[in-house]
Amino acid sequence: MTDNTQVYTDLTVATMEVSDTAYGLIEDAAIVVSKGKVAWTGPKADLPQDYSAQTQISLGGRLVTPGLIDCHTHIVHGGDRAVEFEMRLNGASYEEVARAGGGIVSTVTATRAATEEALIASALPRVDAMLAEGTCVLEIKSGYGLDQDTELRMLRAARAIAQTRPVRVTTSFLGAHAVPAEFTGGADAYIDTVCIPALRAAHAEGLVDAVDGFCEGIAFQPEQIARVFDVARELGLPVKLHAEQLSNLGGAKLAASYGAMSADHIEYLDEDGVAAMAEAGTVAVVLPGAFYTLRETQMPPIAALRKHGVPMALATDCNPGSSPMTSLLLTMNMACTLFRMTPEEALAGVTRHAAAALRLDDCGRVATDLRADLAVWNVSHPAELAYRIGFNPLHSRIFGGQS
Ligand SMILES: [Zn+2]
Repeated sequence: MTDNTQVYTDLTVATMEVSDTAYGLIEDAAIVVSKGKVAWTGPKADLPQDYSAQTQISLGGRLVTPGLIDCHTHIVHGGDRAVEFEMRLNGASYEEVARAGGGIVSTVTATRAATEEALIASALPRVDAMLAEGTCVLEIKSGYGLDQDTELRMLRAARAIAQTRPVRVTTSFLGAHAVPAEFTGGADAYIDTVCIPALRAAHAEGLVDAVDGFCEGIAFQPEQIARVFDVARELGLPVKLHAEQLSNLGGAKLAASYGAMSADHIEYLDEDGVAAMAEAGTVAVVLPGAFYTLRETQMPPIAALRKHGVPMALATDCNPGSSPMTSLLLTMNMACTLFRMTPEEALAGVTRHAAAALRLDDCGRVATDLRADLAVWNVSHPAELAYRIGFNPLHSRIFGGQS
């Protein structure tokens, strides 16, 4: 046994393992951390003698969960849209906002104008807010450059965040996010002459962990997304898709046909699409922050997802337009209140199922040999994490065994 082994006791652990017990809950538990991993967890009474002879660190009866995982964010971006938010609430029409340079165009303009350092600096306060709520893994997308240089710069900034803060970052190339103004009416030309070459360049630089797209009337058609996914397949990259957010174009089914990691938003998903996702092992990423901000009324098909056994992940969708939110705890509350998900589903959505959405098999649960990414909470029962609004009960965060 090495000196850097920590034995945590006087705690309740929500392992989030699939078991007969809700939340995989173990009361009066112990967790042994060694070399950045969980070496043992279970009831303290069963603690192996090697460990029980060690100095123990009391967690004062607190709850331990897996470190949280935010599997869908656009946290790297230039500028913000607060003034546009205000204009709309003062009665400006969509056209007036657009004429004033608002909408996604304003974020693209601000992101193109930002250096890599500026993109990192503006993202870090948002990242810090996430870490303060126990987040240990963060997915970050490109998609506000819509030209090759800026798409790559966004991804470099995303990679740099993991060098600057104790957090693991996975990246998604989202060149097929919107048609930039200079290609208005020319979505096909944009895909062929900008998006796909940028994807190849970003991959060559090691910047891409997955390939994403936005399949919607206001973005790209399924056949255009398929062209991007064909290149992803050729490069050996997994895919995911913003699908069925505002209408049903069959995006989730398309994504499932490529064995997608996840289909995200999915408010307009039908049962056929749910079945295709179940068959392909595609995770549903539910994003209540965007539903709330856009004041949508079409709910994602939670009952059908349950019926077909499709894992449901939750994420902030942190972005400057439709979900200016950094709180996974609030996301959990919204999923329960707006979509009637249970608190256990909500916690699984930001742990075990979020790991599945990112195809990570070394985190999202508290179990032997997984990373020691843990969140320690000042609560007595895990339901409290989804229950409170605007209250952060995090006591401490352990990242890769380091507190
Ligand atoms: Zn998104």
